[in-house]
Amino acid sequence: MLHCIIFISLLLVGNLLQGFPTAKRTNESFIDKKWVNNSHILPTESGKSQQKASMCRPTDKNPIPQGTKIDKSPISKDTKQPIDSHILPTESGKSQQRISICWPTAQSPISKDAKQSIDSCIQATESGKKESGTFGLVRQNGTKFHEGIDIKSFTKDKNGKPTDCIYAFMDGKVVYVNTSESASAYGRYVVLEHEYFLTLYAHLASTSVSVGKTIKAGEKLGILGTSSNCAKIPDTRAHLHFEIDFQIDNGPNFSTWYTKKYNSLPPHGAYNGYNLIGVDPLIIIEKLTKGTSFTNILSDEKEAATVQIAGNYIPPFVNKYAKLFALSIDLSKPVHGWNIQFSWFGLPISWTPIYNKIEQAQKIKLVSYRKSLMEQSIKTNILEKSSKGSNEITVGSKIVNNLNKMGFTTN
Ligand SMILES: [Zn+2]
Repeated sequence: MLHCIIFISLLLVGNLLQGFPTAKRTNESFIDKKWVNNSHILPTESGKSQQKASMCRPTDKNPIPQGTKIDKSPISKDTKQPIDSHILPTESGKSQQRISICWPTAQSPISKDAKQSIDSCIQATESGKKESGTFGLVRQNGTKFHEGIDIKSFTKDKNGKPTDCIYAFMDGKVVYVNTSESASAYGRYVVLEHEYFLTLYAHLASTSVSVGKTIKAGEKLGILGTSSNCAKIPDTRAHLHFEIDFQIDNGPNFSTWYTKKYNSLPPHGAYNGYNLIGVDPLIIIEKLTKGTSFTNILSDEKEAATVQIAGNYIPPFVNKYAKLFALSIDLSKPVHGWNIQFSWFGLPISWTPIYNKIEQAQKIKLVSYRKSLMEQSIKTNILEKSSKGSNEITVGSKIVNNLNKMGFTTN
């Protein structure tokens, strides 16, 4: 039981952690040269001029210096593991926020005295290919997307059943527990809400927490298993499917979208997998352990497509995750639409409000896309090739669906 807790002290500096609408926008004249070189700028309808979305990336005006000191201070009694603490340099007079993260199973590859690599903790599918247990287009010859990582079981009972405990990744609150194996492809699963994102723990054999419970990093959530209502997971490939997620909608919009599409209310409500967008947990873990601030954890994510959407509407997603987008909105003026940058897997990574009236036939329009990410963006349905064989690239169904789930009208 040597999974570790990593403490990261983050400085609460100025407006760094302030949310919408007071955070300063930081997009002025930020142009990514690489983006300019390989993006396609689409002509406007008139053909007279071209438009390009302003570059509003999640940036941090007060970067937190990297820590070097390793501290061995004790941790709270809620957790029972040894610690590696990363203490970042402090500025006198500034308050601190201590962040602890914990690998969600006992065999931590991220602790200082880790006995195994991250690679050796990943469970492959029956293909045997290690990358099939990681995040991304890693399945079915690179055509099927895997939205999390699969962490293997290390301990079994005499019958070969997994006995590994599952631990909370960070301090948070239990917001959803599904105890029915047959009710989801995730099987039995637990969702925790943290300050900046959700974490999801799937295929559990059992859970030991209930909704509403406040959780500390490293606290036990249940036992690793093989539960799922999809293809049977054999005991030999028992694993924790772990996701770090953003919730597309936390109001009624997702439910409305789902009901219209499937003629029933969504099972698991707002914690249905269709309402969650996963990001690569290994990238987030690496960034947090290196002392990257939460507001910068998405800053390396490149925009695969920039879309303009019309509508006098501020979606719940923007309010919920405003801290990550470093944008401000002038509420004295109506918002007529947005320029939204999407990652290649469909996460909106920046939002720029449009205050001028938008005159366009369609409510949604592709402004630009990144050529170097085009092929994978087509595979994830962020972009689509026109069926008429003209090689025209259009907004893909994943973006349209995600915007509809947020409550935007796209037609
Ligand atoms: Zn998985």
